[in-house]
Amino acid sequence: MAPISKEIDFLVIGGGSGGLASARAASSKFGVKAMVIEGKRLGGTCVNVGCVPKKVTFNAAAIAETIHQAKDYGFSVQETAPFDWTTFKHKRDAYIKRLNGIYERNLANDKVEYVHGWARLLSKNEVEVTTDDGAKSVVNAKKILVAVGGNPTHGPDVPGSEYGINSDGFFDIETLPKKVALVGAGYIAVEFAGMFNALGVETHLFIRYGTFLRHFDPMIQETVTKEYERLGVHVHKHSTSVKVEKDGATNKLTYHFTEEGKDGVVSEIDHLIWAIGRTPATQGLGLENAGVKQTETGHIAVDAYQNTNVENIYALGDVTGQMELTPVAIAAGRRLATRLFGPPEFSTLKLDYNGIPSVVFSHPEVGSIGLTEPQAVEKYGRENLKIYKTAFTAMYYAMMEPDQKGPTSYKLICAGPEERVVGLHILGLGSGEMLQGFGVAVKMGATKADFDSCVAIHPTSAEELVTLK
Ligand SMILES: Cc1cc2nc3c(=O)[nH]c(=O)nc-3n(C[C@H](O)[C@H](O)[C@H](O)COP(=O)(O)OP(=O)(O)OC[C@H]3O[C@@H](n4cnc5c(N)ncnc54)[C@H](O)[C@@H]3O)c2cc1C
Repeated sequence: MAPISKEIDFLVIGGGSGGLASARAASSKFGVKAMVIEGKRLGGTCVNVGCVPKKVTFNAAAIAETIHQAKDYGFSVQETAPFDWTTFKHKRDAYIKRLNGIYERNLANDKVEYVHGWARLLSKNEVEVTTDDGAKSVVNAKKILVAVGGNPTHGPDVPGSEYGINSDGFFDIETLPKKVALVGAGYIAVEFAGMFNALGVETHLFIRYGTFLRHFDPMIQETVTKEYERLGVHVHKHSTSVKVEKDGATNKLTYHFTEEGKDGVVSEIDHLIWAIGRTPATQGLGLENAGVKQTETGHIAVDAYQNTNVENIYALGDVTGQMELTPVAIAAGRRLATRLFGPPEFSTLKLDYNGIPSVVFSHPEVGSIGLTEPQAVEKYGRENLKIYKTAFTAMYYAMMEPDQKGPTSYKLICAGPEERVVGLHILGLGSGEMLQGFGVAVKMGATKADFDSCVAIHPTSAEELVTLK
């Protein structure tokens, strides 16, 4: 390994979405001497144990669904063997490995120094790096960006909790399970449950309340929860964990829980996945040595410009607990590099965290931008809102039996006399791809009249959004 520079202008801790974007922009656009320190694999959570392998698995699940639906369109598709999870998993791993290589080459092309090792702050300008061989070096940095992301939160404090895995472990599963249990109501639990179920795995989803995806609009919570039950996911509502037992001979798990106040048990589980949140990766980072403040939740406290309380130390991405999404970390990282190192006209550049679209790769897909209905009521008052809704059966299902038909529901929340669109919530086939374009319109401040002025594209589901009555 080349010797590690002792002096650097911009030192980035964490080679994930935000860190890589910021370091590359600083170096390639503004000629800054930048360094990225990464302890695991380049690309961070998204590339290695998040968005990318998740979406590839979602694609596999979508193909399984299409195969089942094909007969309704007149095809005689017959599966002669179960889904070959093992081959699929190894191909997916190889793809991720290729991406790791591409990310490393991108850093080299942009002349960013890459150090594989773990970083710890020693002071506001000094970072200690421990490389794989255990050697320690100290780097002096004019500016430091902390973009260390987060890790899955440990399972709850119940006996046998350690027998469960987390979202990282999902990507290590080598063979197609027969039965799985997932605990959590956020998008990660819901996405994993949908994929397992579509791939023919008996799937139990344990949630604390009556619906999941509870940060989303009630229409989404209620419709998707109901749809999961219709699709055959065993949704255990109002449930809490009691204990987990492991059969030493078979490695199968038994999960004890309460559901609606009554005791319950599911046995013969191949994998129990805790998906109960993420914790900022600040342990051992030496924040206290530099005096960097954290919030009550342990995230690094930042202002709107990604400044921490310590001059010349910045933070962004998941470790700041803002919107925990890859494009958010990337956008914040690029803006920060431009603000710090670009021409003076960019000295106030920052990411606007309002109106960021997000998608859940559930079954069906969900897309959301802006305020939910309860948030809009709170902000504008019910009397100042006009809400447009529609629910229908997408044409794709026209050839299918009633029990094969999935839901499509759209909601547009408009505020004020001009009916500006302040919330858009969609669920149904293709919602993920649909939302990006509508996101541009909402971000530009589109009104209901603007939506109506756009001529529909027929026959699509999306056309319903520009013809809402
Ligand atoms: C299962 C799952 C699915 C997801 N799906 C999506 C999705 O579909 N779309 C989406 O937009 N987002 C998705 N996300 C979220 C997305 O992955 C994160 O928001 C994004 O990766 C955050 O980027 P980041 O740069 O803040 O941190 P990360 O990408 O987590 O990168 C931080 C890096 O810092 C490294 N690091 C930590 N501490 C140190 C240290 N002391 N020294 C050196 N290196 C260190 C870590 O090893 C890591 O590589 C998903 C996340 C998960 C878990």
